[in-house]
Amino acid sequence: MNLAHLLERAARVHRTAPALHVGARQLCDYRGFAAAAARLGAGFRDRLRLAPGERVAIFMENAPDYLIALWGAWFAGLAVVPVNAKLHPREVLYALQNSGAQALIVSDSHAAGLAPLLAQAPDCAHVITPGAASWRRLLETEALAEPLHRGPDDVAWLFYTSGTTGKPKGVMITHRNLFAMTLCYLADVDEVDPRDAIVYAAPISHGAGLYNFPHVLKGARHVVPESGGFDPAELVDLSRSVGRLSMFAAPTMVKRLVDHVASRGADPSGFKTIVYGGGPMYVEDIRRGLDAMGDRFVQIYGQGESPMTITALSRAILADRAHPRWAERIASVGVAQSLCEVRVGDAGGRALPAGEIGEVMTRGDAVMAGYWRDPEATAKTLRAGWLFTGDVGSLDADGFLTLKDRSKDVVISGGSNIYPREVEEALLTHPDVAEVSIIGRRDPEWGEIVVAFVVARAGATVAPADLDSLCLASIARFKRPKAYRFVASLPKNNYGKVLKTELRDLDARLAAGGN
Ligand code: AMP
Repeated sequence: MNLAHLLERAARVHRTAPALHVGARQLCDYRGFAAAAARLGAGFRDRLRLAPGERVAIFMENAPDYLIALWGAWFAGLAVVPVNAKLHPREVLYALQNSGAQALIVSDSHAAGLAPLLAQAPDCAHVITPGAASWRRLLETEALAEPLHRGPDDVAWLFYTSGTTGKPKGVMITHRNLFAMTLCYLADVDEVDPRDAIVYAAPISHGAGLYNFPHVLKGARHVVPESGGFDPAELVDLSRSVGRLSMFAAPTMVKRLVDHVASRGADPSGFKTIVYGGGPMYVEDIRRGLDAMGDRFVQIYGQGESPMTITALSRAILADRAHPRWAERIASVGVAQSLCEVRVGDAGGRALPAGEIGEVMTRGDAVMAGYWRDPEATAKTLRAGWLFTGDVGSLDADGFLTLKDRSKDVVISGGSNIYPREVEEALLTHPDVAEVSIIGRRDPEWGEIVVAFVVARAGATVAPADLDSLCLASIARFKRPKAYRFVASLPKNNYGKVLKTELRDLDARLAAGGN
């Protein structure tokens, strides 16, 4: 069954329930939302001649049209390629080329930057900008009577994640995966009804956008902030005017919201549920959150390959301060979500006893079908039916999972993943840089920040400003190092592999010494 049936059904069951909003202003009800998606879907099929299974990439900031574009694509049986709006045009080009997307929906603000590169994506025959004539024409098509048929294993969401080695990979998320994620939200994260509202304060191209499904299923309101993003003062105002507001937020955002609420003594009662995840949440921070905003939090642990759906730490457990192991539990990522099996395994994937540390594995209907056109990477990550997450952790006797570290060296800054290799490659294009290694440094505001250890060529000096310019020319702005440390050499093991643990220690020692 095609996911788009969720919206078609909501339009029958919750016909006049308010659906899309900008700020507190309602744009349409469920009937209007579904009708727009059904017309856009018809436009994809009848005017652009796109066939089920073909891809449409979306490169735009949060907006109600983003949701219409997603659902329009699913009505037509297409797979969407949601591209992070902060990416560099070259990174977007890679996703277009690799996915072979036949169409691109790009916001006005991004269109000009991308235009000169589009000749290098010959499959992409159609470029449409919401609000422009091309978009309006699609929306004038006679609506599809119903979503085109799709099977559960057909790809719905082709999401590009970076790899520590090589190029980004397209994660194939199927209709079945998204149904599983939706049901787990309703079973393990939160109940939803039409009075509720979800606000998109984080990018719709990521987890925040995925949470539109349970809210469509239940006929709840969808709110795009006027700012399009995360602004604590705006969110507090929205919670008052809209009410029963839920959101997904990275730990960094939660911390900023909590700081704002605590420092202003703001009333948090307009917030219903704040789901946090995507990176580590420090215990002190969630304690402060609970103190300032009450029992409004739920944690989830997931990854692009099993989106939002591996474990959850419920509101009830976070609230149960009297429990003898409360402190340990709030430091964990909770227990397996209802449709997931979770295991901590040894190198061969055999289950380890409670308390032992190993790689986190998961199995179930939320786990991706594989990496797009990359059987080798798929075979490494999906083995004997299990997804090997690359995260390291341990389970306790009650099934609570605590993450210890990430086996991959990904740096998570402000909820966004930054893969060292990409930054290292950008810095290594400087003629006077001999070697470079990227680590994450714990940071109270961002979770982690990117620190670059740089070895200059003999006799040369390298200016940080030049390194910054190199990064800006080829990778997204948020991936740029926030600090540079110039060293004579990098610590390495016998195989010549850089010892990042030693670099982290060195960074901490230098910081303690005031350098
Ligand atoms: P992504 O694929 O971009 O969603 O990143 C997924 C990675 O983020 C996971 O493999 C974990 O390393 C990390 N992560 C996700 N959720 C949590 C969480 N609740 N606590 C700690 N780390 C998390």
